[in-house]
Amino acid sequence: MTKSPANTELPRRSGWVEINTEILRNNFQLILKDKPESLKFLSVVKDEAYGHGVIRVAKMAEQAGACAMGVTNLEEACQLRSGGIRVPILMFGEMRRDEMPYCHELGVIPTIHRIEDAEYLNTISGKWGVVSPVELEVETGMGRYGVRWDEFEQFAQHVHSFKNLKIGGIYTHFAMSDELDKSFAREQLKRFGMVRKSVMESGITKLDFHTCNTGGYLDIPEAHFDRVRLGILPLGVWPSKVCRRIDGIKPAMSVRARLATVRELKQGDNAGYGLRFRAPKAMKLGVIPVGYGDGYPRVRNEGHVLIHGKAAPIIGGNAMDTTLVNLDGIPEAHQWDRVTLMGEDGDASITAHDLAGWKKTVSYEVMSGWRSRLPRIETADSSQ
Ligand SMILES: *Cc1c(COP(=O)(O)O)cnc(C)c1O
Repeated sequence: MTKSPANTELPRRSGWVEINTEILRNNFQLILKDKPESLKFLSVVKDEAYGHGVIRVAKMAEQAGACAMGVTNLEEACQLRSGGIRVPILMFGEMRRDEMPYCHELGVIPTIHRIEDAEYLNTISGKWGVVSPVELEVETGMGRYGVRWDEFEQFAQHVHSFKNLKIGGIYTHFAMSDELDKSFAREQLKRFGMVRKSVMESGITKLDFHTCNTGGYLDIPEAHFDRVRLGILPLGVWPSKVCRRIDGIKPAMSVRARLATVRELKQGDNAGYGLRFRAPKAMKLGVIPVGYGDGYPRVRNEGHVLIHGKAAPIIGGNAMDTTLVNLDGIPEAHQWDRVTLMGEDGDASITAHDLAGWKKTVSYEVMSGWRSRLPRIETADSSQ
């Protein structure tokens, strides 16, 4: 048997994700201009930076002055370190005891929610002869992680008393920061404000208070405190349709394919799984070699793609590897022409929010949902 070629030696498959590094860089610059200078930002790069490539985004964030990276598991932290990222890494969520010994080695800051965990980390830190930085999360209404706001002060005091731990941050997370109705966010902010006041009065100092994800950063300036945690914003996608916009910010990710087949259907011919489409008249059909196995929504006669800057409606139910479109309005479409599944083509565009509508989900899931079987290709084309 001959040795199989490396993936990178193969011609690129007819479906891919494009990351425009010029746009990404520009988005970071626009955020730096938008935010107050003293406000620090932590770059949230969990889940491959929402599918954009964790090192690619983390490097740019580091260059833009990010104070730390935010991830949710040790593998992601390891990936950052092997990719040469130097800034501290904040771990969201709970950390198991058997994971804690890696904090020091990897420069990972755990979020501590339990005194027993603080005690354990304090003991092993003592053995290493180091003071380990930790952050604490206040539960103010997300109901997920953290110590309830009305029980927090005592907890903070207790953690503060450990000689080999240093509290570097206290934070909470909004359940609803990017919608018009900010009343619950304000309630959470009030709870966090009480905690902040009592912690400051108790003499725990030199730490960052932070609450904001992108939605909070954009719309609730009074919640900025010392640091914000930005995930989706530098990628150029708005967390919701109603939040504040920063001029010039654009999506860095596009998803493209090539038209694998162009064929004629006769009146009454069927197309796709489940007999969900029958040609009402003779028509031209296109086959796109990307389906729900690539992260495209499982749609039925809903949605469209762009070919030559025009919308080609999806017909029938799509498959794991293929999606069918109506080419009637695009007579110039030929085999291997470029197809845009998400992004701009000429004056037309399909946004993550459009796809979220067809997929009945949110833009976040659309972005992190593009599977790794679609290769990530960097472009720096500023005309897009
Ligand atoms: C994912 C996450 C963020 C980032 O949210 P965006 O809306 O993408 O900016 C911030 N904080 C925490 C705790 C998160 O889990």
